[in-house]
Amino acid sequence: MPLVIAIDGPAASGKGTLARRLAVHFGLPHLDTGLLYRAVALLMLDAGIDLGDANEAARTASSLVADQLADPRLRERAMGEAASRVSGIPDVRAALLSWQRRFASDEAGAVLDGRDIGTVICPDARVKLFITASPEERARRRHRELTGRGEETTLAAILSDIRARDERDSSRSAAPLKAAEDAVIIDTTELDADEAFAAARHVVERAREH
Ligand code: C5P
Repeated sequence: MPLVIAIDGPAASGKGTLARRLAVHFGLPHLDTGLLYRAVALLMLDAGIDLGDANEAARTASSLVADQLADPRLRERAMGEAASRVSGIPDVRAALLSWQRRFASDEAGAVLDGRDIGTVICPDARVKLFITASPEERARRRHRELTGRGEETTLAAILSDIRARDERDSSRSAAPLKAAEDAVIIDTTELDADEAFAAARHVVERAREH
């Protein structure tokens, strides 16, 4: 039976790092689904289209190709904000759903991380993890990551972004951010990356034994 691992959680919770490590450890392909929403936003901005234009956003999402997920600008802070805006458009989510399901149907399985993987995209995933941490700790991590890449920003600006994104992602009506009922919740506020990985690996190994 394929091993599908669904990982959800708020911005900067550490789910991306964890997803990458689990994928390497279990030899599975990995999709960072946030990149899909970021790519839709970037393509629209590059084409001078307003992010609130739902028709154009849906059209952009349905024509997305894998090569467009490699642009380094997708990782910039502003793109997380822009992605959060287009991600509330139901037709965008619908267009990206089949993309993600196709990725998850690899015969070995797959690791997908995002906001609605365990609830909407892969409700039958063998393993569902919900990774979280306090907003302050997430802001500190994101600040370290962005300044490490040379982006100029302040901790206060990032904390305010994170709170705004949490609010928008959790309150939208289309696939809001929430833990699936059968997800295992891992709070990484007090854990370093190795400890979080050990906890997640343990959950996956236990699920594989059943
Ligand atoms: O995870 P990342 O910060 O790259 O996600 C950017 C934005 O894309 C999120 O704030 C969220 O609004 C949206 N997103 C989503 N569903 C996913 C992944 C990301 O709505 N599965």
